[in-house]
Amino acid sequence: MKIAAFDDHRIGLVEGERLYDVTAAVPAALDALPQQRINWLIAHWAEAQPALQAARAKAAGRALDGVRWLPANPQPPHVFAAPANYQKHIGELGARVVTKKGRSAREQGFFLKAPGSLVGAGGVIGLPKGSTRRFDHESELAVIIGKPGRDIPRSRAMEHVFGYACLIDATMRIEPETHEEERSMRKSFEGFTPLGPWIVTADEVPDPQALRNRLWVNGELRQEASTKDMIVGVAELIELISSVLPIQAGDVIASGTPEGVGPFAPGDTLRIAIDGVGDMSLTVREREAASPRPY
Ligand code: MN
Repeated sequence: MKIAAFDDHRIGLVEGERLYDVTAAVPAALDALPQQRINWLIAHWAEAQPALQAARAKAAGRALDGVRWLPANPQPPHVFAAPANYQKHIGELGARVVTKKGRSAREQGFFLKAPGSLVGAGGVIGLPKGSTRRFDHESELAVIIGKPGRDIPRSRAMEHVFGYACLIDATMRIEPETHEEERSMRKSFEGFTPLGPWIVTADEVPDPQALRNRLWVNGELRQEASTKDMIVGVAELIELISSVLPIQAGDVIASGTPEGVGPFAPGDTLRIAIDGVGDMSLTVREREAASPRPY
């Protein structure tokens, strides 16, 4: 099943080239917090099935053209992210990285991106006005957590996966000695975490470690790799994160980028496609407000 958030936080099922509005399957109490509807649906997935099917049967469906997509989960409790998780990516950025030499996500653990940096398919990645810094794309498979838990062994970890989505981990690089902001800030500008176009449920992805992941800038292929090359796989990432804190329904894990990371600029179009998961494009724009500091 493909579950999307769209327009003013409505919930939809995507089937082929049609979108079916199933917002009625979520309790009306959530009307006060519509951005939480996806979290509720994931947390109550099994019990929500009859209402979901009833809403789907009643829905007329609409074409996908003109849909205003929101982040596949607009307000996850956490957005965890793996640094340095593909061997060929490690080292390709020279001095512009903060991961220590020879280390991977296994030793470095995870970092956090601000959920407020999420944006949906067709949205805008906003760059600081007039910035001369380098901004990079990182094409990543996002894992969406279903069943909450803590101290989850990797042998049981996949039971906690609800589904998958495409994620771009946009990043402002450090400039050694002159600009060395915290990683969470550099990766949390508005629109720096495209997530979508929808969540595809785990039953439709037989092996998350065998997916082709590609990213284009203005139609030029920049990244192409298989998730089989992850150093720390999805199950081990869940084991690692849940050994630090409880994971929750709706949490997002950005599983790291393969090689081919490179810069983008205002006016560019970024497209990410992960086979069997989704395909989406976004545009890069400079923000209107001047920055109070030289990013
Ligand atoms: Mn990344």
